[in-house]
Amino acid sequence: MLADAAQKAGAEIRYRHVVTAVDVTGEQPVVKVRADDGEEYTVTARYLLDASGFARILPRLLELERPSDFPVRGALFTHIEDHIAHGEMDRQKILITVHPEHNDVWFWTIPFSNGRCSQGVVGTPEYLSQYQGTEVERLRAIIAETPSLAKVLRNAVWDMPGRTLTGYSANVTSLWGKNFALLGNAGEFLDPVFSSGVTIAFKSSSLAAKCIERAWNGEAVDWQADYAVPLQAGVNTFRAFVSGWYEGGFQDVIFHERHSPEIRRMISSILAGYAWDTANPYVAEPQRRLNVLRELCQRDAKALVA
Ligand SMILES: Cc1cc2nc3c(=O)[nH]c(=O)nc-3n(C[C@H](O)[C@H](O)[C@H](O)COP(=O)(O)OP(=O)(O)OC[C@H]3O[C@@H](n4cnc5c(N)ncnc54)[C@H](O)[C@@H]3O)c2cc1C
Repeated sequence: MLADAAQKAGAEIRYRHVVTAVDVTGEQPVVKVRADDGEEYTVTARYLLDASGFARILPRLLELERPSDFPVRGALFTHIEDHIAHGEMDRQKILITVHPEHNDVWFWTIPFSNGRCSQGVVGTPEYLSQYQGTEVERLRAIIAETPSLAKVLRNAVWDMPGRTLTGYSANVTSLWGKNFALLGNAGEFLDPVFSSGVTIAFKSSSLAAKCIERAWNGEAVDWQADYAVPLQAGVNTFRAFVSGWYEGGFQDVIFHERHSPEIRRMISSILAGYAWDTANPYVAEPQRRLNVLRELCQRDAKALVA
């Protein structure tokens, strides 16, 4: 089962201690583990938090997996010695580039401090499978179709093997149960486009830690009200932006010629991670406000053309 998980996540990791079974029905949760020398042992704790990411150990063992609402997408990625010329990219920011013909195909270029970048592309499996060769060859072929990015990366040295990951969006039927909770990607993973994954993982850990602290202090904890609902609120805010991105409407907003500084500030704040700040009108009503904004931008674009 873990081998499946690792394979699904594209990981080459083999863990020395593998969780083979979990029992959460008793007074305390019990985890059964097999070491690589074959020895089996159990671990009992007061509470079980699953932070296993794409391995999704508890969702698999407890059959909590639920397909994501998002269609299956895949990514090809690697690290490069980027040699991006000074002034061609702000190294304090992530560069997101959209394919000139397919607006659901997009690239990330994430600069590191040492002159290297994480470089990747996201597209449907059908789109990505049109390209032949190694992961790096396929990635470079897609970049070659995108002149603005090809120009930025024209001197890059492709010195590392690439990797591929498909079907990473995932969901669960419940984020918690008796004596356990799912953190980060072990719960739900939306999409890499707005780098929400690490933000959501940290938020889930901080909410869960508070719940456990309260429980240990003898207070009653309602995991649905105190953990799942508040976590889901921010996830749903991100979800509205991710859906809007792939449906194209949010791209119309981002690439519109005219920007309201105030709206730009509110949206940037969410995408920077403040997706739980209900004082922000775009957090309070993300879907409705995005719909209105998209309509305004599309109408305005028509007026500008006319
Ligand atoms: C293509 C792609 C690009 C992304 N880009 C970004 C980005 O730019 N910014 C961003 O914020 N997020 C990004 N994400 C999402 C981000 O990587 C995850 O959402 C985030 O890492 C989730 O954190 P986590 O702690 O839940 O899981 P992880 O970071 O995956 O951590 C899980 C840990 O558990 C370990 N583990 C698993 N099974 C076992 C086991 N049996 N025994 C011991 N250890 C185990 C793993 O080795 C790993 O260290 C991207 C995701 C994808 C798919």
